[in-house]
Amino acid sequence: MPKQQDVISDIMAHNKQFVAHKDYEKFATSNLPDKNMVIVSCMDTRLTTLLPEALGLKNGDVKMIKNAGGTVLNPMGSAMRSILVALYAFNVTNVVIIGHEKCGMARVDNSYLIEKMKDRGVTQETVDNLDVDVLSWLAGFDSLEESVLSSVSIVKEHPLVAHDVNVFGLIINPETGELRHVPA
Ligand SMILES: [Zn+2]
Repeated sequence: MPKQQDVISDIMAHNKQFVAHKDYEKFATSNLPDKNMVIVSCMDTRLTTLLPEALGLKNGDVKMIKNAGGTVLNPMGSAMRSILVALYAFNVTNVVIIGHEKCGMARVDNSYLIEKMKDRGVTQETVDNLDVDVLSWLAGFDSLEESVLSSVSIVKEHPLVAHDVNVFGLIINPETGELRHVPA
């Protein structure tokens, strides 16, 4: 594993050039999303640049929330909190949940994740003494479509979400960027 200082030095070396060459100029925009949209999608690395390009989005167009699986699981959790801020502080009127094929959170082996934690020094006692059931907390989903629709319905039915907000789900192919709509 690389030393933390080496990682920081690499980032800083690139950043110095980025700023010196004014590479930031092409990203200039405001903090208001020009397309009045917030997207919730997966942290999958294949989507980092592919997803915005496939949707025709440039810097400044949308608010982007990323997590493992691209899900809104908890009506009072952090993804939902960010959506509410987007709606009421940044004039967002469209909430789009974007799942993707071949997602690592589809049937994720959560017991394997716990084994990996134990290999790295986390004890079973620690796992057992947490307030949550770690196994189900880390669980993924069986059906991608159902996962997308479940996130859509958590947002749509949220008591703090205004009724005129558009909420819908899409699925993206992580290789070709092809999209399909998931009808509710
Ligand atoms: Zn994924």
